[in-house]
Amino acid sequence: MGRKRGRDHVFVETDGQVYLVRDRGTLRFPRADEKLPFPTESAGVMDFGADRVLRYKPRLDHHPEEWWGRDAIFERSDVDPLVKRAIYTTMIRCVSEVILSKGLRVLMVKSVRGFSKGYWNVPGGFMDYGESPEVGVEREAEEEIGVDIVLDGLLNVYVSGFPGKPAYTLGFVYKGHLVSEAFRLKPDEIEDAAWFTVDKALTLTRNPFAKWALVDFFLQSDEARAALKVKRHSSDPHATGPDQPTVFLDRDGVINRGRAGYVRTPDQFRFLPGAIDGMRLLQDHGWQLVIVTNQDAAGWKLLTEAQLAKVHDRMLAMLHKEGVRVAEVYYCPHNVLSDCACRKPRPGMLLAAARDLGVRPRGAWMVGDKPLDVQTGRAFGCRTAWVGPKAWRKRFAAEVRPWSPDVVADSLLDGARAIVRYGEDPVVDAARKSRTDPTITS
Ligand SMILES: [Mg+2]
Repeated sequence: MGRKRGRDHVFVETDGQVYLVRDRGTLRFPRADEKLPFPTESAGVMDFGADRVLRYKPRLDHHPEEWWGRDAIFERSDVDPLVKRAIYTTMIRCVSEVILSKGLRVLMVKSVRGFSKGYWNVPGGFMDYGESPEVGVEREAEEEIGVDIVLDGLLNVYVSGFPGKPAYTLGFVYKGHLVSEAFRLKPDEIEDAAWFTVDKALTLTRNPFAKWALVDFFLQSDEARAALKVKRHSSDPHATGPDQPTVFLDRDGVINRGRAGYVRTPDQFRFLPGAIDGMRLLQDHGWQLVIVTNQDAAGWKLLTEAQLAKVHDRMLAMLHKEGVRVAEVYYCPHNVLSDCACRKPRPGMLLAAARDLGVRPRGAWMVGDKPLDVQTGRAFGCRTAWVGPKAWRKRFAAEVRPWSPDVVADSLLDGARAIVRYGEDPVVDAARKSRTDPTITS
């Protein structure tokens, strides 16, 4: 979609050896329509705009000595520049970052240049040549905020793509604390440094490593986990195990018809056409379902939490009869004026599911009908689907644009079909991923 039709080239590599064909004195990749003398399986797509390089793994029973060693290719003058560019692009970039904490809060810095210009990020940046990640992050922190840091251990290591670029970046993220708070901000790079709770910090950064690390920090911090107060329907959530692929579903406008005066009684709860089928489709494909709903009606005291529980009991009973299981229903009982962690677009309900059900952002989707649902999914660092009838989507198109949903669909059922397809084709998946992953900032 939207791609100028160019050529598809095939990049077959195994164990540092690359398969090339000689064409009038030049060594080049085979084209997608040329037959290869061995079977392959697809391993992703590198999108260079007009040219697309399809990555394949060969199925061979021997080591192909006769192929070309990837490092030796750069010295040759008879190699197609696209081959050099693609091989160069496979070399992963490395960044090293740090979550500096003080009690429940973490230090974020606001950038004045680069990819994260105008956004908050965690301190850190690209590692220098030959530098270890520990030394790199200490140097970056000193450069950015002018303060020595103490590392308390590695939090995690992540890989992510750049939007519209075929390269990947490897991110080491540490946890640590400050020696002093006498900040000396680097004027051409950082305009501010401030402490935020994890739920708030997640809404401020575009950096996927920072998001995933903030969630991991939250999960590793007894204090942060205990401090997050989020309401849920059942006291005994039906978790299907850690790291279970999960789809978060908004309720009103996705599962059931919204009502001008809010859904206040079980009788007013009406499933939207296809919603149950969509939930069943996701469940049949191994997705755990978690509902996350802002209930302003409770926040405005138009509905008691006991009444809301009755609505949810009825909804769950009807779903149960249809063979659909919901791991948990989280709800925000506040209103738009509240500064709670749970009201979307804050990701508090998703964080609670990470804590209670073992959900991880990299294996999750958020499906909603409002721009703030998409924003919430982005804040948590998961993929997002925006669903609703065409006229509705037209009305909110400009508002949703900054959050660039991965899937746009007419209904939950259509969205569910797209989510199921998304994970099934690694070529499509990798191509989409390289376009839609949030920006890496360093
Ligand atoms: Mg809604």
